[in-house]
Amino acid sequence: MKTQTRVVVIGGGIAGCSTLYHLTQEGWSDVVLVERDELTSGTTWHSAAQVTNFGMTQTMVGLKSHSIALYKKLRDDPDYPVGYHHGDGGIRLANRPEQMEGYRHFASVARGMGVEFEVIDAAECARRHPLITTDNLIGGLWDGEDGDIDPAQLCQALAFHARKAGAEVYRNTAVTGLTQKADDSWTVHTDKGDIDAEIVINACGYRVNEVAAMMGVQHPVASMEHQYFVTEDIPEIVNAGHRMPLLRCPISDYYCRQEKNGLLLGFYERDCKTWGLDGISPDFSNDLCPDDLDRVMDVLEGAFARMPVLTEAGIKRVVNGPITYTIDGAPLVGPIPGKRNAFCIIGLRAGVGEGGGHGWLLAQQIVHGEACYDTWGLDPRRFGPHANVELTALKAIEDYQNEFRFHFPNEHRPAGRMARTTPLTPVLAAEGAAFTVVNGWERAEYFKPAPGFHVTHGFRFDESFDVVAAEVAAVQTGVGLCEVNGFNRFEITGADAVGFLDRMICGRLPRKPGRVGLAYLLNHKGRLKSEATIANIPASDRRPDRIWYGSAAASELHDMDWLRANLRQDEDVQIRSLTNDMTILVLAGPKARAVLSSVARGDWSAAAFPWLSLRECFIGIAPATVLAVSFSGELAYEIHIPNASLHAAYLALRLAGADHDLRLFGALAVDSMRMEKGYLHWKADILSEFDPYETGLDRFVDMSKPDFIGKQALAARGGRIEQRLVTLTLDSTDAPAHSGASVMLDGLVVGSVTSGAWGHRVGQNLAYAFIRPDLAGPGTGMVIDSLGQPVPAKVIAACPYDPEGTRMRG
Ligand SMILES: Cc1cc2nc3c(=O)[nH]c(=O)nc-3n(C[C@H](O)[C@H](O)[C@H](O)COP(=O)(O)OP(=O)(O)OC[C@H]3O[C@@H](n4cnc5c(N)ncnc54)[C@H](O)[C@@H]3O)c2cc1C
Repeated sequence: MKTQTRVVVIGGGIAGCSTLYHLTQEGWSDVVLVERDELTSGTTWHSAAQVTNFGMTQTMVGLKSHSIALYKKLRDDPDYPVGYHHGDGGIRLANRPEQMEGYRHFASVARGMGVEFEVIDAAECARRHPLITTDNLIGGLWDGEDGDIDPAQLCQALAFHARKAGAEVYRNTAVTGLTQKADDSWTVHTDKGDIDAEIVINACGYRVNEVAAMMGVQHPVASMEHQYFVTEDIPEIVNAGHRMPLLRCPISDYYCRQEKNGLLLGFYERDCKTWGLDGISPDFSNDLCPDDLDRVMDVLEGAFARMPVLTEAGIKRVVNGPITYTIDGAPLVGPIPGKRNAFCIIGLRAGVGEGGGHGWLLAQQIVHGEACYDTWGLDPRRFGPHANVELTALKAIEDYQNEFRFHFPNEHRPAGRMARTTPLTPVLAAEGAAFTVVNGWERAEYFKPAPGFHVTHGFRFDESFDVVAAEVAAVQTGVGLCEVNGFNRFEITGADAVGFLDRMICGRLPRKPGRVGLAYLLNHKGRLKSEATIANIPASDRRPDRIWYGSAAASELHDMDWLRANLRQDEDVQIRSLTNDMTILVLAGPKARAVLSSVARGDWSAAAFPWLSLRECFIGIAPATVLAVSFSGELAYEIHIPNASLHAAYLALRLAGADHDLRLFGALAVDSMRMEKGYLHWKADILSEFDPYETGLDRFVDMSKPDFIGKQALAARGGRIEQRLVTLTLDSTDAPAHSGASVMLDGLVVGSVTSGAWGHRVGQNLAYAFIRPDLAGPGTGMVIDSLGQPVPAKVIAACPYDPEGTRMRG
């Protein structure tokens, strides 16, 4: 066994084998995989091993289609062929029109990644799958490439090819401890001896948190028991003359595929069970949980009704094994938060199908620093410290019960709510707030006009449309108040703070004390990493001078990792997170100054406190820091308040606002207004796949600076634009454009949507999309493949509302 290597992958299931293989494909051969037992002895060996292209984001579709291409290649490899039923086809069923609309949207998303799905009616479903009835069925989504693979052969083949490329695999070798050394490399302790490695990767399936504990972290991953059974031969299948397509059913929560001449039927029952939360026996390997078919009777009935042949079929084998879930259903693939040189590929619930793609994207991140797609949806840093084991278990149960029921864009599920709140959460709830969840924080989306008010889940404009319109109108003509909780805020101090930040951002820092500016951080490839509001706070009787770095609520761990990773040892810089200590109240609208002036002493006139200024003050008795910045395009103030004083500040503003008809507004109104101003959202529109020029952020790049991270790569590209972010107006009043929808011209995909919302002040259906640069000129027409309809769209100027910015400069 080697005692020194570049990478140790811990775990020999599909996650570990795929990562090992792809590391060698990306050019690293000094890599090893350590497995406590035989390869695939965790979950992988007993997987139903279905492999589909279906995904709800472009990244998911892209990585799954990578799996399929790779598995086909391995199937056809004469040296080590893998059993793979590729192209049996699969149907996701639907009995509600909203589900069919979702499928049409996901077909549009997939089209942009070169994958074609078909949305078919019930009769066509039955034609393609002759064993099903069409009762209570309106149609489904067809993936012609659906199939299943032999999971053990797949992993052996990946290990075989990795070994051929120089990797080593140590079976029957358990990792027993991990020690991080002063230079951030690792010693991996195993029961066969130690291995020193630059990088470690946790790919330990349901044992994820045993290995996590060895490095002092905990991952939001919980296991559920999951069962399927395999039937005896079914005569209708023996005589069919073709293989049966796969089925996935959100009506009764089961999946079904052909296994030999019978069927394999898997269940997502309501009465489901977590597994291993209080520890896992060290002997549980190549093992299963006890059968418990009584638990799945609810979903079994639905499967019997859909496929009457099942009622006659004998059961040959039952499999009940642990399957891992995370808080939002997507795996954790990428850097481990707060650790250097440590990565994970965990929480895979469809790991055999997706594993090829996840290992590919992880290997790219490790070798090149960034993957070819933006992987934020998989990034382990996307959950904050609230993501504990109890919350994870609750969300795992909820997600398991809804396995095939995708989230609608306006749906916020009930499990594990109130994970992160402020003193205002109950106050806003009493005011009628309907909440969404942002990195665990309960954030008001809009304020209900009546207690029983609710929206219909779907992809079209819903009942909140007029409510949001009224909130926007109040902000446009009077004054509104909005709580923005969870906003990420780092206080950066030290003699080298300015120099450090100057190196991190690609533009100019607000050097004058009391000024605020927007800044962008690039990765080493010169593409967008983060967006930050930088506030230069002068010394006062409260504290010495300091810089605030403010960014999106979800970016808390991501940005901290990036800043810390680039801090030089000799730099005098301290970074302290204030995210959990403070909350923003946004006061916006032409009367905002009048309200502010009546609760805070001082001269708040435009001359004394112009746009992009900053000042410490009191809001009533609450200490506050006020920033003259606007995300709405109206005159606005971001008022940052310590949470202990938040309620006091809120009461003072409400009282003062009463004379001006102050109205509360929520995140949907903010989204509508920011799109009218051409403002972007991190990880919706600001993606690591694009550089600042492609994203239209040229004015935030200063190439005359001696250096900044990403400058060299940006310069080397010489301003070449592959795609350009544009604002589109849609010729439709039915539905917003949804993220990932394809933009088409003459039947070809020319781009994809990143954001969409109705612009209530300009009365237009707005979307942002990255499109082919030659089409980016204002007035160019194209269509958006929106819910199956070709909706005409036209490029317009980036800022259709008050383009001169006179209103916010007030
Ligand atoms: C019943 C069932 C049906 C499924 N059906 C499908 C399906 O149809 N399609 C699909 O895509 N997915 C399916 N899945 C899910 C899929 O099987 C898993 O997502 C996937 O197998 C997980 O692979 P993994 O490599 O992450 O974990 P595992 O396969 O569990 O591998 C982890 C490995 O790490 C090793 N290990 C743990 N601790 C240590 C240590 N300390 N030192 C060294 N090694 C260690 C373990 O021994 C194990 O081999 C199903 C799962 C179940 C339970």
